[in-house]
Amino acid sequence: MKYLVSVIGLGYVGLSTAVCLASRGIKTMGVEKDPNKLNAILSGHVPFHEERLPQMLNSTMKKGTFECTSQIYKAVEATKFSFIAVGTPSKPTGEIDTGYVESACVELGEALKRKKAWHVVVVKSTVVPGTTEELIKSTLEASSSLKAGEDFGLAVNPEFLREGTAVQDTFHPDALVLGCSDMRTLREIKKLFQKFYRKLPPVIETSTTNAEFIKYSVNTFRAVQLSYLNTLANLSSVLPDSDVGDVVKGLATIMKLDNRYLRPGPGFGGSCLPKDTRALAAHMRKRGVDASVLESALSVNLKQSKVIVDMAEGLTNGLSKKRVAILGLSFKGNTDDVRESPSLNIISELLSRGAIVVAYDPKAMENSRRILGDKVLFADSVKECIKGTQCCIIATDWREFQALRPNDFRTSMKTPAVVDARRIFEPELFRNSGVLYRRLGTSR
Ligand code: NAD
Repeated sequence: MKYLVSVIGLGYVGLSTAVCLASRGIKTMGVEKDPNKLNAILSGHVPFHEERLPQMLNSTMKKGTFECTSQIYKAVEATKFSFIAVGTPSKPTGEIDTGYVESACVELGEALKRKKAWHVVVVKSTVVPGTTEELIKSTLEASSSLKAGEDFGLAVNPEFLREGTAVQDTFHPDALVLGCSDMRTLREIKKLFQKFYRKLPPVIETSTTNAEFIKYSVNTFRAVQLSYLNTLANLSSVLPDSDVGDVVKGLATIMKLDNRYLRPGPGFGGSCLPKDTRALAAHMRKRGVDASVLESALSVNLKQSKVIVDMAEGLTNGLSKKRVAILGLSFKGNTDDVRESPSLNIISELLSRGAIVVAYDPKAMENSRRILGDKVLFADSVKECIKGTQCCIIATDWREFQALRPNDFRTSMKTPAVVDARRIFEPELFRNSGVLYRRLGTSR
């Protein structure tokens, strides 16, 4: 049976996109080069933690709407649209490494050369403004000997899903950004999305460069906003009778802000916000544009882990040789992704101040072990993690941690002292509880 869509790169974005498309009856073929990942997916296993995705993967494979392969040419031959969803990691300069995108485009172009029918290539990977026009188009054209916009369609459709809510975000995006090489491509891609969403979300039709730019403008805006909120939180901590929660509520109401990104905490992390902010800053510098807004957001973000560790130091009278529990290693709750997680910065700051660190995360233990090795002790449960410690830092907002009560800390810890870097508890809960409690962004 013929497939309609192929998705190249089955990481967080590619697999979520492919499986969601397939779940709505759009026959989709995934392409993954990493044999371990491919084998895991073929046996019905999602190689990362994402709610609802494992069930959806298994049911789409059973129904025959999702299939995967390691060969791009096979997928191009069998489908009409190819989404590129390979990684674009950071280089030491802050720029993105487009190596995976380029090599996928070389293979895609070679496959297009063999294929007789019209095909549409859709760039989903996050690439800096101008990459499709300056690099992707020429790479595809050189390897296919065809012309974009005439012999094949080329579009940019940046992805805004958030890990942890990837399925929900894929079905209900705030908007659909479409940058297309020509009208035929725009028409066809809209038709595909019509089939997927039934009722289209708001569509922003623009150039490929602007589509890329919109993605960066959103993520860097969020990064700047979070660093600003964290700075406000740090001021609240030292202002008598202040809590940043009330300040943010006022700010959000008056400014009509999206409250999904209004939570002060230990700094932003993950695979997108830090990387995208560095990349756009580097892109600006390269073009002679002052990037100090973004550079400040990054520098404030790095310092926020020190603010958290200072709070712990304040509660423990010095951290040297103190046993400190870290609850949460992923960059936020509901994901096992530890890429650029603020917990890792907090841990390295604690270690540099001589603390002994015991860490626990409901889902990110395996990924953390790979990075932290034997620098910290790992615990199998919250209870084991906080046992005998002199301070506990809540570094990730996992639901499991929200269920903890003062008694859990008082009975297990050597000296019960809690730093709530995610503001998951109300301070009243700890009043007269026998637990020293400090919440980020409050002096109450
Ligand atoms: P990832 O690293 O989790 O996955 C990328 C996958 O592509 C890997 O499995 C890799 O093996 C595979 N791959 C690389 N080259 C390939 C090739 N030639 N053929 C087939 N497979 C290939 O990355 P991700 O987190 O899914 O991100 C992908 C892109 O989407 C990045 O540009 C990222 O910035 C962007 N993005 C990510 C998120 C997110 O939350 N993770 C959200 C929005 C946008």
